[in-house]
Amino acid sequence: MKTTRPIILLTNDDGFYRETIQVLFRALAALGRTYVVAPDRERSACSLAVTLRRPLRVQAVKPRVWAVEGTPVDCIYFALQKFLPRRPDLIISGMNPGPNLGQQDINYSGTVAGAIQGTFHGIPSMAVSLLPDDRGRFDLKAAAAIVRTIAADILAHGLPPGTALNVNIPPAPRKGVKITRLGWKFYDPEIIEKTDPRDSTYYWIGTGTPRRVGDAGTDVMAAHDGYISLTPLHTDMTAHQALGSPKLRRIARSLRPVRS
Ligand SMILES: [Mg+2]
Repeated sequence: MKTTRPIILLTNDDGFYRETIQVLFRALAALGRTYVVAPDRERSACSLAVTLRRPLRVQAVKPRVWAVEGTPVDCIYFALQKFLPRRPDLIISGMNPGPNLGQQDINYSGTVAGAIQGTFHGIPSMAVSLLPDDRGRFDLKAAAAIVRTIAADILAHGLPPGTALNVNIPPAPRKGVKITRLGWKFYDPEIIEKTDPRDSTYYWIGTGTPRRVGDAGTDVMAAHDGYISLTPLHTDMTAHQALGSPKLRRIARSLRPVRS
């Protein structure tokens, strides 16, 4: 008998073995057939990187779970072309233990990239990230229940075309839900210089505290105010407001004498 159960693909940028994705794998079992295709180790902040210059090893961890020696985007390629019995009905990337908020996080994030890649394939896709409580902990079960509610709705009704959903879940007590715009979260990390035991200098890019900017309608503020933040993302990076810019027209004019 042909199964009509939805297929849900899970990925992340933190590694297939992380509890964050395992909890989700179990929590979504009631909604459909869940698969995990995720990196074999942490690949945070790799954005849409694709591995092109080295071979990739893959490990079949257990039924419906694979670990790929690559990035979240590599994982989506493997899932769609090699592992899944058919196109998934939903892709969920996460849950990332830490927020992905504002224009900067969205562009750096491997978690968000998993959802963006799904959207490139025309598959309803969401990225999920969690804010810690003030003791640095994450309530994974509660967050997974929220994701299940959202997932059930997307499976039933879809997402707007070409739109990935970026979800950030603050710790309890939560005040509610807001549909948000991206705010601004500026990082200026310190470069930390150290010396190794053989007297060579090496460096770490530090963390530092990012500067958050945005009004109450932005994801950065809503999530930190205790609201679940739902941000619709699209991948058209055209600066539409700049298309008619005199500065661009001047550049174009400067090239007019150029024939080829
Ligand atoms: Mg991560």
